[in-house]
Amino acid sequence: MAKNLDAYWMPFTANRQFKKSPRLLTRADGMYFTDDKGRQILDGIAGLWCVNAGHNRPRIVQAIQQQAAELDFAPPFQMAHPKAFELAERLVELTPAGLNKVFYTNSGSESVETALKMAIAYHRVRGEGARTRLIGRERGYHGVNFGGISVGGMVANRKMFGTMLGGVDHIRHTHDPVRNAFSVGQPAHGAEFADDLEKLIALHDASTIAAVIVEPVAGSTGVLVPPQGYLQRLREICDKHGILLIFDEVITGFGRTGNPFGAQTFGVTPDLMTVAKGLTNGCVPMGAVFAKQGIYDTFMNGPEHLIEFFHGYTYSAHPLACAAALGTLDTYAEEGLLTRATELQGYFAEAVHSLKGEPNVIDVRNIGLVGGIELSPLPGEPAKRAFNVFLDCYEQGVLVRTTGDTVALSPPLIIERSHIDRLIETVRAALRRAA
Ligand code: PLP
Repeated sequence: MAKNLDAYWMPFTANRQFKKSPRLLTRADGMYFTDDKGRQILDGIAGLWCVNAGHNRPRIVQAIQQQAAELDFAPPFQMAHPKAFELAERLVELTPAGLNKVFYTNSGSESVETALKMAIAYHRVRGEGARTRLIGRERGYHGVNFGGISVGGMVANRKMFGTMLGGVDHIRHTHDPVRNAFSVGQPAHGAEFADDLEKLIALHDASTIAAVIVEPVAGSTGVLVPPQGYLQRLREICDKHGILLIFDEVITGFGRTGNPFGAQTFGVTPDLMTVAKGLTNGCVPMGAVFAKQGIYDTFMNGPEHLIEFFHGYTYSAHPLACAAALGTLDTYAEEGLLTRATELQGYFAEAVHSLKGEPNVIDVRNIGLVGGIELSPLPGEPAKRAFNVFLDCYEQGVLVRTTGDTVALSPPLIIERSHIDRLIETVRAALRRAA
């Protein structure tokens, strides 16, 4: 064990608070972590929205072990290994029709950068090089790299880092508690927020706009479920003006909303789709961008010996990641996990919404196996009340996540009703104690 905790600068963590009372996880199995004191911790957030099949799944573990001994690395530029193709073939069986090309990355953030670059380059190769502008959305989270924070809309993730990418604009977020508080599933009001895109087109002209990127369900900004008709309206406006629509499905991908992808749950197919997390059940870092055939084809026009898209990572299609992903897809398929949220979402929704009326709960939001419980902030101390609830739940042996003053739940898709009961009752008790 480490003698002290000084050397590690922890990501997205209150380092000083953590190091005073560390929360160290040492093992995991199924729905549970074990901490360094031997306590069992119920995983209410699938690790970090990624361990969708639960922990320590035998097929995935074996796949990684075997792969490490067989082929540890293969260069991904001008070379490849068979599993990269096998995985791509398997993945496009799951994606919405038309999204049948796969570009590998190592994380959600890299998937976002890749998709944004693909969009701009696509317009250039088809002769509309002026289409460089990118449109994001307020309260969007698209990872932490410069492209992602530029199109993203979370103030704390942006304000420290200068001017970021030029040529970016944002549509409004869809959070509208006055009309939609305590909606079960998709809220009824707010499809018209998509019309902001028309306003930006009127301002900048469509001929300058490459793509619009949104999360179908905004997760990291507090579980914002798209209003009925909203994504459809965005799709229509993009089609009308030749703008690519990118769905960032890093959280919604791989079963979270009751279908393999949010695109299927909401019935809207984007032109590019980013994933990561559940692709490998969180076991080995990996992300991917799915692209429509036509986008790929547009690049395939120059001399055949020349590289068509100058982009990629040393670890794109890493053999360990591909093996982990194949083991993950097998596990999802064998256990029907990519649609399991559909069976459980009614029970889960009722459980999460039973928190309405608990102290300081000002909204509850849900879709599939995602829940958000928004609290009124402590006066002058934003985010503290939710953080206190998180600490209290952890003390009680349940891991939840907070973002701002929202408590977010996104359990592994193997969850049983008894776990849902425990999760909700632990949050309820913590809310009462935090009152
Ligand atoms: N995009 C979305 C929608 C996310 O939720 C996340 C992470 O939570 C990311 C991108 C970034 O992914 P990563 O942390 O793997 O870079």
